[in-house]
Amino acid sequence: MKKKQFKAESKKLLDLMINSIYTNKEIFLRELISNASDAIDKLYYRSLTDKAIKVDRDKFKIEVSIDKENRTLTISDNGCGMSEEELENNLGTIAKSGSLDFKENNKEEKDINIIGQFGVGFYSAFMVSDSITVISKSIDSKESYCWKSSGADGYSIEESDKKENGTTIILNIKEDSEEEKYSDYLDTYTIQRIIKKYSDYIRYPITMEVEHEHLKEGSEDEYEKVIETETINSMIPLWKKDKKDIKEEEYQNFYHEKFFDYEDAMKTIHTSVEGNVSYHTLLYIPSHAPYDFYNKEYEKGLELYSNGVLIMDKCADLLPDYFSFVKGLVDSSDLSLNISREMLQHDRQLQLIAKNIEKKIKKELEDMLEEDRENYEKFFKAFGLQLKFGIYNQFGMHKDVLKDLMIFYSSKEKKMVTFKEYLEHMQEGQDKIYYASGESNDKIDMLPQVEKVKDKGYEILYLTEYADEFVIQTLMEYEGKQFMNVCADNLDLDTEEEKESIKKENESNKDLLTAMKEALTDKVTDVKFTNRLKNHPVCLTTEGPVSMEMEKIMSAMPTDEKIKAKAVMEINDSHPIAKKLKELYKTDKEEIKKYTQILYAQARLIEGMSIENPTEISSLICDMISK
Ligand code: ADP
Repeated sequence: MKKKQFKAESKKLLDLMINSIYTNKEIFLRELISNASDAIDKLYYRSLTDKAIKVDRDKFKIEVSIDKENRTLTISDNGCGMSEEELENNLGTIAKSGSLDFKENNKEEKDINIIGQFGVGFYSAFMVSDSITVISKSIDSKESYCWKSSGADGYSIEESDKKENGTTIILNIKEDSEEEKYSDYLDTYTIQRIIKKYSDYIRYPITMEVEHEHLKEGSEDEYEKVIETETINSMIPLWKKDKKDIKEEEYQNFYHEKFFDYEDAMKTIHTSVEGNVSYHTLLYIPSHAPYDFYNKEYEKGLELYSNGVLIMDKCADLLPDYFSFVKGLVDSSDLSLNISREMLQHDRQLQLIAKNIEKKIKKELEDMLEEDRENYEKFFKAFGLQLKFGIYNQFGMHKDVLKDLMIFYSSKEKKMVTFKEYLEHMQEGQDKIYYASGESNDKIDMLPQVEKVKDKGYEILYLTEYADEFVIQTLMEYEGKQFMNVCADNLDLDTEEEKESIKKENESNKDLLTAMKEALTDKVTDVKFTNRLKNHPVCLTTEGPVSMEMEKIMSAMPTDEKIKAKAVMEINDSHPIAKKLKELYKTDKEEIKKYTQILYAQARLIEGMSIENPTEISSLICDMISK
């Protein structure tokens, strides 16, 4: 018989399993039982659409048995089974190879993460076995086959004589080592405990032969040992159990197993609804974004069950895009088993469920925001961006659902605040919500425009994510209060007197300012003196809807059309440089051009932008300081 080699990636995964230092080895059983249950699901589902396949629902089961002498643990199901080709394809290669990247995987730490992170499935059995035998008969085939492997040296497939459809997996349990007592996996009570712990909700009976002591018939004190077949699992899906009977640990175990997350979920939402439509939902808000969350490939959706039978594993219609991070499932007895994907979209029951789910998630997030700010901030770090997209996508159609879930860093509170909280802190007479954007809080803090606004006692929201300004522009106002960029040229903080005096100042220096503007050709739309700055000599503000931050973001996008901010250079009228400029203009008009170039370059640098002509600017400065 010819030995075949595992595909390269599978071999790596295998090596990982065989030499695993992963401490939670018992999960192998959960993986095998879950495969068995899926195989029965598949068979049942096929029988609904294929009349040639006849099944008896009551006969479905998963059998677990132990042979201590031969050190074997056997898991057997009467599901759809595997053909020769399927054995080859499913067990010779890893199904999820795409999600496993082993390139730099030699650190033990990382190995553990891989095992925990992905349901590594069948191969996990190699953590506890020297060799594995899989005997399977597919419902689509007359023959049955036997797959065997002792790990790294490959596998073999030969014909077998199994008559009934289904799969039997025989594990040859490893000998005990110093670190690990593998014999535990040959102990009935241990196996029972593991089944209860991870697979209690499996819908098919998981049976085992268990030894009991019974009083001998006709005797009062003599006992005899009787072997009885017992069903170990309760078979009630977790989501159909009463909330008060479920421990947090059970929710989390279920979450890990089902949604391949190695961290606990941040929040579990479990509801049962009776009424026009009756359904159960079990939803989870993950505590971190999956590695592919912000990729195009990420698929949102909830598992959909019709009375306990899985009918779709990612029903996208159940979740709005902005809550796409939610994992979980919906089970309703009001949905037909054979419903097609196309029909589902128009199904009124489903639409109703989706609407309720959306409301529920929103409510949970609001509660978390109110009661558990620390966790909410963690949540927002992971998924806030998705909520922000939700605000400005589709022309802001959903902005009202989401605006109260936004939090931004506040200059005054030195922590994240909601818009509502901002309004509560507003000064008397303040009618705007001030914000400033930049790369980081520290950088925004250093913006010249920020200083004066803070001095006036106003709170400023710091926008540091690229989506932030789009959010603000979509919202435009909150409870009647307009948003105002502190870097906008129409920031109106001056008193009437101040306004009057700066206006005069600008008028009387018109020639100077025009000369400066001309020196900058089309880089700015205006140059003026300002009261808005405190210590800094110069800044750039913008006219119209496009801010400097947005220009930066949009010029980084791969489109041909470059959107430019309308920049205004403002010079601090109370800074010595203002005086210097005014005097210089009287004596040396040429020199003004150089000063203008340098000031403009400074303003750009302060805004966190680069300067287009660094060598030129550098020699200008050198000229000037060597004078
Ligand atoms: P996963 O279950 O995550 O896809 P596994 O490595 O556990 O990955 O299994 C690979 C594939 O082998 C499964 O997708 C399934 O098609 C098949 N398989 C495993 N166990 C069984 C079984 N008991 N009956 C039928 N098919 C099975």
